[in-house]
Amino acid sequence: MIVTRYWKVDQGIGTEIGMELAEAARLLQIGETVAFPTETVYGLGADATNTAAVEGIFTAKGRPSDNPLIVHIADVEQLSSLILSDCVTADHRRLMEVFWPGPLTIVLPVKTGGISSLVTAGLKTVGVRIPDHPVALQLLREAGLPIAAPSANSSGRPSPTLASHVKDDLNGRIGGIVDGGATGVGVESTVIEIAAGELYILRPGGITSEQLQSALPAVRIHEPEREEVQDSDTPRAPGMKYTHYAPKGFMHIVQGENTKAVAEWIQNDINAAKIRGESTGILTFEERASRYHADLVIVCGSLSQPETIAQDLYAALRQFDQRGIQYIAAEGCPETGIGLAIMNRLRKAAGHRLVRV
Ligand code: AMP
Ligand code: MG
Repeated sequence: MIVTRYWKVDQGIGTEIGMELAEAARLLQIGETVAFPTETVYGLGADATNTAAVEGIFTAKGRPSDNPLIVHIADVEQLSSLILSDCVTADHRRLMEVFWPGPLTIVLPVKTGGISSLVTAGLKTVGVRIPDHPVALQLLREAGLPIAAPSANSSGRPSPTLASHVKDDLNGRIGGIVDGGATGVGVESTVIEIAAGELYILRPGGITSEQLQSALPAVRIHEPEREEVQDSDTPRAPGMKYTHYAPKGFMHIVQGENTKAVAEWIQNDINAAKIRGESTGILTFEERASRYHADLVIVCGSLSQPETIAQDLYAALRQFDQRGIQYIAAEGCPETGIGLAIMNRLRKAAGHRLVRV
């Protein structure tokens, strides 16, 4: 158990670096782990060039060592120390121009000796992005280092969208937490790779397939398998094979064209669980919430604004655990736009248990 430092900072941060961020940056420079807000979720950062520091991330999170970390940088100039610049194509440059800073991680061939091989889990590539958050950017600039930063949760739990989530999971296990309030997008970055001129979405996230297509109209885009049953031991984004975000109770997703039939099925299912003596929960959306009765009905954003579903999703999944809910039925949402990332996370949280009504 170590003492975790805690700093509260203002989101509307000015150009002057505050004492809090200066201290946090110093901890990063001496090889400690520091959690900080980004526009997607809270990240747990460490100096990507320092193997002992990166080890600290894996230990604190309990993360499997074959799951590589994303490297966060403050500006494109930092790229040349991490990757093989010759491999950056016009399409890569276009994506950087359009989406950086922002929730797009680009996988590129790694430069030997640039960063610790623990970061890439021994792969020949590294995922890099520039986060679009004033606190993250100031911290990265002040530290002056490429910072490896996965989500700041215990491995397997929902990613943190509030500093209190980080505290719940990692207090006493990391050097510090920078609290910059609630994150924005709510789900992690989109991870992509370009191979033979075609773009592969390795993990859906904050930048949608539609946005990528409009930035690169001539490029073929491959979306990940929607059911993503991972038979292979080596999926292209290694993290995709792990169970994630799962509440402690049983959860399944219920989906169908006929929303009335879905609501009836869910309510009957929940009633049966209640009779069995289980505490019950329903995850639904603003438009549907009035149809349901359970011990805990969580309204997770609005179907008319799917970005609000992404924002609320992880906090909602954590609430089921906080209330000790044993049996959960979740409604699904359409898989267009950000819905692709939402359903990807929801399916993992439900252990791929899906009922079609
Ligand atoms: P997290 O940092 O927890 O958001 O997880 C990072 C995700 O990006 C995981 O799914 C990783 O497997 C994936 N990732 C990171 N680096 C690479 C890489 N070099 N190639 C493919 N996927 C990567
Ligand atoms: Mg994660």
